[in-house]
Amino acid sequence: MVRLVILGGPGAGKGTQCEQLRDRLGLVWISTGEILRQAIAAKDSDGDCQTELGRQAQSYVERGELVPDAIMIQFIQQRLSQPDVQQGWILDGYPRTAFQAEELDFLLEELQQQLDYAIFLAVPPAELKARSLARGRTDDTPEAIERRIELFEERTVPILEYYDLRKRLVRIDGAKPIEDVQDAIQTTVETLVE
Ligand code: AMP
Repeated sequence: MVRLVILGGPGAGKGTQCEQLRDRLGLVWISTGEILRQAIAAKDSDGDCQTELGRQAQSYVERGELVPDAIMIQFIQQRLSQPDVQQGWILDGYPRTAFQAEELDFLLEELQQQLDYAIFLAVPPAELKARSLARGRTDDTPEAIERRIELFEERTVPILEYYDLRKRLVRIDGAKPIEDVQDAIQTTVETLVE
């Protein structure tokens, strides 16, 4: 049973690494950014978002701002209560604020689940910017990228200390080649896989 949080700035390689972890270890990969992008893209014939989540998130995601904690916390609460994640999960892009991290711990206690590791993919800001610009996702405008890097430093970096104090933090050099990063993550989680 493996339960992981993957932390890193925009372009740190979280999605790439999670995809490989999912394929190799059969873990359920929950990417909040991907879920939000899909919810925003699903439009009805009038061009309006079909879901409440898409409607609520659209303006934030497009500007590179964080979707309010209350919306995200409620979403994760529902997602982690579903049957397909009872055998473990990888959270990608969540938590992103200290409040989300604390609330996640409360939720896990309630669900009688335990987080194994928070894996931080460390990548210098200049490299984050270059990688984000290169991938050209719809929410990757230069302004949104700048804002997301800024918010990562301000809101998400403090979470590293939160997990470090709880002896959950594993720091991995995310500037290395994809395969090396994957090997480092797998070495960390190997002990958890039966
Ligand atoms: P990502 O694909 O993880 O980089 O997320 C893309 C966008 O989705 C972010 O820029 C935010 O607008 C939003 N988002 C994703 N996860 C969260 C979260 N945990 N809290 C707030 N906003 C989020």
